[in-house]
Amino acid sequence: MFLKSEGITMSLKSLSNETLTEKLRDLSKRDLRLTAEIVSHIHEFMIRRIYLDHGSTSIFGYLTDQLGYPRATAQNRIDAARLLDAVPEIKEDLATGKINLGQITLISMGVRQVEKENPGTKVSNDQKRHLVETIVNTSNAKSDSAAAQVVAQELNIKLDPVEKVRVHQDGSVTIEVHLSKEEFENLKRVRDLNTHKNHNAKLGETVAEAAKFFLEKKDPRKLKTKIKPPRPNPTISSNPNLKSELPTLGSIVPKQNSRKYISVYVVRALHQRDKSCRWTDPTGRSCGSTYQLQIDHIKGLADGGTNDIENLELKCAIHNRRKFELERALAKSPTAAQ
Ligand SMILES: [Zn+2]
Repeated sequence: MFLKSEGITMSLKSLSNETLTEKLRDLSKRDLRLTAEIVSHIHEFMIRRIYLDHGSTSIFGYLTDQLGYPRATAQNRIDAARLLDAVPEIKEDLATGKINLGQITLISMGVRQVEKENPGTKVSNDQKRHLVETIVNTSNAKSDSAAAQVVAQELNIKLDPVEKVRVHQDGSVTIEVHLSKEEFENLKRVRDLNTHKNHNAKLGETVAEAAKFFLEKKDPRKLKTKIKPPRPNPTISSNPNLKSELPTLGSIVPKQNSRKYISVYVVRALHQRDKSCRWTDPTGRSCGSTYQLQIDHIKGLADGGTNDIENLELKCAIHNRRKFELERALAKSPTAAQ
């Protein structure tokens, strides 16, 4: 290893300035072409959603966790792949250096902001193409700030600044966030409602309090176990005239295999056991997402599976759906889905 790297250093040291310049130019040209190729591969990979089969819930997660891309690098390649649908020409523009990934990310940010600020509106493909062409043809749009100005002017918006997260030595963080006027009013309202707890709460503390409150209400790991008796059958309790049609005992006892009657103890134990999505890819790597967790029956109820914890598994909504799709494909053509 040492010898090899020394060999490269030696051979570069022996190059003339002209040759080194030429080589660097050649490499950066190849870098651009390679980037354009990677973007179009990501595009097809996204359409086929192959990342789901490898234990990731998003293309972003796949690129960062499994291919090792830094977050910003992953994001701008994804932005470019998405823009490829509307403006296929950007592949060639990227390969020839007419546009760069930073500029494409600015376009995507602008588009997202317009659609967020004006719910229901969609930036059309023609508008996106026009933005790309304007950036390509504006000679001084090479720098990020100049490109940002073009995007802001063309879309008639004030571009939101990028969210900054600075991590300190003790693990605490400073986050710089941008809120719309309405979102800021909501935050202040939460602070005011919470003044009985902390009279001089800073907005940051209010955010932390709100997060804690949300988790207490919504995090299945923290939910207190409440046992609700099964609802009385309305035909028995509320309609005395139906006495003659009283259901037999067997019909009001919840069926053991009914989806509705997974006991709260089981649900709680399941969340404590699994904690996150248990989907695993062929190499045994598991998803681990804690977002929108659902309860999956390993063996479906229709196939005789039970509500016992051994037959249950937490899966994120995306992988639960993926499992369903794969099972359906398998049922349709048992050989093709292998
Ligand atoms: Zn998952």
